[in-house]
Amino acid sequence: MSRGGAMSKELVLRLNNRNYANWLKAGQCLYILTEALCPFTDEKMQNFHQYLLRDMLHLREPCQGRCHHEDIKHSRACNWCLHWKSVILSHHRQPNSMLNWENCTPAAWRTNHWELAKAYMPRGQAHVRTADQCDPSALLNLINFCDCFAIVNVHSSLVRELIRCRNALMHSADMHVTDEWMKKFKVTLTRFVQLFDHVPSMAGTEQKLTQMLAVDLSICAIDVVDDPEMELATDSVTYNVMPEKIFQWEADLLQERLQELKHMAEDETMDTNQLKMLECFLQQNKDLSEKFSGQLQAISMLVAEQRKT
Ligand SMILES: [Zn+2]
Repeated sequence: MSRGGAMSKELVLRLNNRNYANWLKAGQCLYILTEALCPFTDEKMQNFHQYLLRDMLHLREPCQGRCHHEDIKHSRACNWCLHWKSVILSHHRQPNSMLNWENCTPAAWRTNHWELAKAYMPRGQAHVRTADQCDPSALLNLINFCDCFAIVNVHSSLVRELIRCRNALMHSADMHVTDEWMKKFKVTLTRFVQLFDHVPSMAGTEQKLTQMLAVDLSICAIDVVDDPEMELATDSVTYNVMPEKIFQWEADLLQERLQELKHMAEDETMDTNQLKMLECFLQQNKDLSEKFSGQLQAISMLVAEQRKT
């Protein structure tokens, strides 16, 4: 983003809104967590994939007919792909729930462990190729649903609680969360991180999250934003954050929120009020609307089309 002028004022106004800043920080915490979980989930899936291939010889057979995810859904795929389907289901913690087969390229299950992982994720992962392209919801759902993550029942409720927090954040129509909500979120987050304290890539994560939750994003003087590196105060330290970085945090979260709205629109489960509120927010924040209004318009058109039919 460019600095100075109207853009900076908009950013300052947003960051001075405490509940919006909370929303942003909570979202950023989930990204910090995702980054730490990424190498762990990748390695786990790789081992799980190898274990399956070692254990069941028929999973080594190549697909016989370029099966499509629709073929899997309607159980008309080739035998080898149908074997994969039944193995995936047998390792799913809720095999009776709707699986998002459209995430997957069945013929690649044999050779690519992340294609296997995507079967346990929420929709919208078809374009994803590797673990580091996954958003927080994707990795949390993978951990929740695939039983290669040997978490016992008492722990799986913690994973589900964090998924609920993530959903509350992404479904918040005004992109605001209260201090009260943040307190509960912090407890959930800490308990989740402690579940994985044996994982090497999680080392230092608790500290990073504490720092993020403690940072004060409110800025009183516009000159501070014009300074390329802002010093933001936390309880114990000051911490340099570039305004560009904060803008990137916002962009990542808005992208995820738009994706969520798009899915709701496709499922016809969207409250159009949510769309209006986001539209209004983008109108007031020209710096963000430049980037996102095209996508928002596409969703509005989708909703309008559905109304006609
Ligand atoms: Zn096949």
